[in-house]
Amino acid sequence: MTQPIDCGTALHELYEFLDGELTEEKRSAIEEHLDHCAPCDGARKFEGELRIVIADRCQEEVPDELVDRIKAAILLAKEQA
Ligand SMILES: [Zn+2]
Repeated sequence: MTQPIDCGTALHELYEFLDGELTEEKRSAIEEHLDHCAPCDGARKFEGELRIVIADRCQEEVPDELVDRIKAAILLAKEQA
């Protein structure tokens, strides 16, 4: 049985989660949270898609304006969580 975690922890660990840098135990704790928490699950999907877009274009310059817009969108999503 994994320890339940709150939204702050889930979002804080989201980057490591997506990078696959967490232990199996932490991964399942976050996955469990994401399964039951729509705002955090939305953030996970958003971050995941963002990474795919960036990976696709990794040889290209990402305009600062786009990076700023994405950062603002993530911040907004976290505030609404
Ligand atoms: Zn949550």
